[in-house]
This record gives sequence, C-alpha cells and structure tokens, in this order.
Amino acid sequence: MTVEGKVVVITGGARGIGLATATALHRLGAKVAIGDVDETTVKESGTELGLDVYGKLDVTDPDSFTTFLDEVERQLGPIDVLINNAGIMPTGRVIDEPDRVTRRILDINVYGVVLGSKLAAQRMVRRGSGHVINIASLAGETPTAGLATYCASKFAVVGFTESARMEYRDKGVAFSTVLPTFTNTELTAGTAGAKGLKNAEPEDIANAIVSLIEKPRRRVAVTRVAGLLVASAKFLPIAVSEFLVKKTGMDHVFLEDVDTAQRAAYEARARGEA
Ligand code: NAD
Repeated sequence: MTVEGKVVVITGGARGIGLATATALHRLGAKVAIGDVDETTVKESGTELGLDVYGKLDVTDPDSFTTFLDEVERQLGPIDVLINNAGIMPTGRVIDEPDRVTRRILDINVYGVVLGSKLAAQRMVRRGSGHVINIASLAGETPTAGLATYCASKFAVVGFTESARMEYRDKGVAFSTVLPTFTNTELTAGTAGAKGLKNAEPEDIANAIVSLIEKPRRRVAVTRVAGLLVASAKFLPIAVSEFLVKKTGMDHVFLEDVDTAQRAAYEARARGEA
C-alpha cells in the first residue's frame, strides 16, 4: 500500500514526532491534517508545510476532537489514518507530583488516545476501512523511576490498543502501537536518556510510522535495538533485568540527573503552567 492520497490526521502535530511525521507523509503525497492544543505553533507549522488543514485541537475535549475530525472530512475526505500522538511527560518523584498534574497526564495520554480511537473508529467501522495508530512508548513496557505516572499512561495505551485491535481486526479497521525509545524532542529536554543507547530522532519515528501505514502491523518499536532489549528483558530473571535497569540508568536519569534549567520551559508547558 502507498501513503499517497491517504487522509491522515495527526494529534499533537505542532512540533516533535507529530510534526516530523506530518512532514514525511506530506512529502509522500498524503493529505495530512495536524491538530494541536498549541494553536500558535500548529498554525506556524501547518503554514510552513503548506497543509490544507491545521488548527486547534484539544484531545481531552470531545467537542473539540469531533469538530476537528468533521472539518478534516469536509475538506479532505474520509479519514484513512488517525495518529494519536499528543502526549506529555512531566518528570519527578511520585510523592511530589501535584494531583492536578497526575490527572493531566492521564487525561491527555490515556483519555485523549481512547477518545480519539473511538471517534475515528466509529467513522472507519461504518466504511469498513481505516487505521488507528497510537503512539505509546518503550516506557509503556519498562518501569522507569521519575516517570511513574507517564509509564502508567503508556502501559495503558499499549493495553488499550492491543484490545481494540482484537475487536476490529475483522471489520477492516487496523490498530497499531508505536513504541519509541527516548527521542530528541522538547519532551526530553534536559534529560540524558538511557545510558549506552542512543536517543532516536523524530524522523526515525516518522519513518517507522510511514512504513506502518504502508503495511499495517500490530506494533513497531523504534529503535530496533532498544525494542529488542526491552522485549528480551521480560524473559530474564528479575535480578538480571534490574541489573540492566541500573546499567542503563533508568533508576535515576529522570530524577537527580535532570538538568532542571534546561528542562524548565518544557515542564511548564507539559504541566499546563506556561
Ligand atoms: P512534543 O512535546 O515535542 O510534542 C507533543 C505535542 O502534543 C505538543 O505540540 C503539544 O502541544 C501537544 N499536546 C499536548 N497536549 C495536547 C492536547 N491536550 N491536545 C492536543 N495536543 C496536545 O513531544 P514528542 O516527543 O513529539 O511526543 C509525541 C508523542 O510521542 C507523545 O505521546 C510522547 O509521549 C511520545 N513519545 C515520545 C518520546 C520522546 O522521547 N520524545 C518517546 C516515546 C514516546
């Protein structure tokens, strides 16, 4: 299958992985629409790319999401692919996390993905075709200190997407999970990532998503090496996998190692304080 001519909606498309994916798909001839809660930046990005549809979309608001999808279908035609990409990653210890931030992570990262999946799949099941791609994370399979609520939200996305996939695989609607390793976007500002493993670039995730649209699969991990490490850790004795966690720094790189000055602007945006 080719992506040319496909109508693709990307949430959180103003920057980072969403924007890199929009850029790759637009170049390949897809009809791309990007929505983002950051209206100013999504308008700049949409104009710069020369997209037909871009604008404000809050994935936690059913009216906003429905209006955006309606507008896309009015201007571009039936939606072939929805990429639920919007997400936030505040860091810190569990006991220091304000309840407002806990709810915000779950609202955007989990409810937003479930809502988007429902709204898109309702339209797709009626037509008997479509593809919902949910951006989880390898943190959706790896416990990580300093990211407890984020990990919980991404574990939820993995479980939700796999379950929805079982419901609709015979109805022509595909569900896929993308599990990126730490990737160089604003979301990882001021963090060192996993020791011994290179962070991915947003374009690496974009390329994986393009190939997923060309050939729908259950899941894809990026990078391949990080995905294999995480997958194999599940079969190791707990003492060995905890040794690996320590070796890669996953027990502390999102706690004391964080460069708080470099991360301040992102944390303020993610926590809704900017
Ligand atoms: P980013 O911060 O660069 O971009 C995320 C975008 O989502 C932002 O433009 C933001 O405004 C938007 N957004 C936030 N709340 C929203 C809402 N309520 N409605 C609509 N848009 C909203 O982050 P990124 O690194 O590009 O992350 C994209 C996705 O990839 C996220 O789901 C993230 O959890 C996931 N991910 C990222 C990494 C990484 O290391 N960067 C790794 C694994 C998974």
